[in-house]
Amino acid sequence: MSWSPLMRSELIRRFCSLHGREPAIIARAPGRIEFIGNHTDYNGGTVLGAAIDRGVWVGVAPRTDGRRRFASAAMTDVVETVADASRPLAGKDAWANYPLGMLVSLAAAGVAVPAGFDFLAVSDLPPGAGLSSSAALELASGLAFARLAGAEPPRVTLVRAARHAENTFVGVPCGILDQAVSGFGRRGHLVHIDCRGPDFSTVPLPAGTGFRIFNTHTRHALVDGLYAERHRECGEAARALGVALLADLDSAGLEARARGVPEVPLRRARHVVGEISRVAACVAALRAGRIEEVGRLLAVSHESSRTSFENSTPELDFIVEGLMRTPGVFGARLTGGGFGGAVMALVAEPFAPESAERVAAAYNERFGARPDVLAVGTADGASLENP
Ligand code: ADP
Ligand code: MG
Repeated sequence: MSWSPLMRSELIRRFCSLHGREPAIIARAPGRIEFIGNHTDYNGGTVLGAAIDRGVWVGVAPRTDGRRRFASAAMTDVVETVADASRPLAGKDAWANYPLGMLVSLAAAGVAVPAGFDFLAVSDLPPGAGLSSSAALELASGLAFARLAGAEPPRVTLVRAARHAENTFVGVPCGILDQAVSGFGRRGHLVHIDCRGPDFSTVPLPAGTGFRIFNTHTRHALVDGLYAERHRECGEAARALGVALLADLDSAGLEARARGVPEVPLRRARHVVGEISRVAACVAALRAGRIEEVGRLLAVSHESSRTSFENSTPELDFIVEGLMRTPGVFGARLTGGGFGGAVMALVAEPFAPESAERVAAAYNERFGARPDVLAVGTADGASLENP
């Protein structure tokens, strides 16, 4: 599967009708699947993700009056700022903090950015589903801004600036997973990130496999607070276990130090340390072509989320259980931070649509709402797609 050419023409058409001219620069950046390695990134661990063939497209054109006009096909109003305004926006304009934050973070990293411009984003990623529309928006914006100012920052600078923008300007304490996969994705591959370096590499996916995403459209009311709470609990656990980062421990080391550590931080630590070992096991299994074992590791990961990290929900559990009984499914787990959002399944292609439909129908019966089922393929990382 590859990028929809419709997205690019849709961007140009909308840009012309809104801003009265064509974009000078076009960039796209993919969303991502968290394949395995849940909540490992901010603990200094490893994670596997895949860039997908859905994402955000951004067009920009220069203005000489220093005004910055941000528009998105997903939003009704145009957000207007001036070049020296560098504070986060609130309320309905807050979505523009992703591109605004990129301008601030790129400049802080010494990358030239444009003063005034017109901006438009179009997307075929469902926002808030755990497919990282936010990182896709950041990467596409950052690439477009740098090019408009004549700069060509190294990919790693762009990825770091995007995470910095999300942490400091948007205010989400995320690790580097989302931005790194959107930046370093490769078609037909998973991206392996060692978050401590950070170091990035890719691992081929076996031919004949594909992904299905089940978006439940559920989102825990306290999801941001719960994410921050898990972040804090992991820090607490590391302190109680006498290490700087949970990634400093393997399972044996963790158990050797477990005595006296309170139960909740200990369970969080077991999940994270377990996930890091499952990432390594997954890479080995992928390289050896042991796809059933990869699927089993995905299922173990979900079970660990459910019981130890407590970031799953009855809705996500129901879909994973249904999928694990479905022929052609190697494995399934929640993807992303959890507390709602989406389930990812690794399937054998071609995967019968009726099989996905059965799981969706059973969910509908149980919860009274239909999940969206998306067939997604892998894709390359963020790129310029100039007119
Ligand atoms: P995720 O990254 O998993 O999709 P987040 O909550 O991190 O979820 O990011 C979603 C937010 O990103 C949206 O609420 C919105 O502010 C912003 N966003 C994503 N896509 C777009 C878009 N196409 N146009 C405007 N804002 C967007
Ligand atoms: Mg996000």
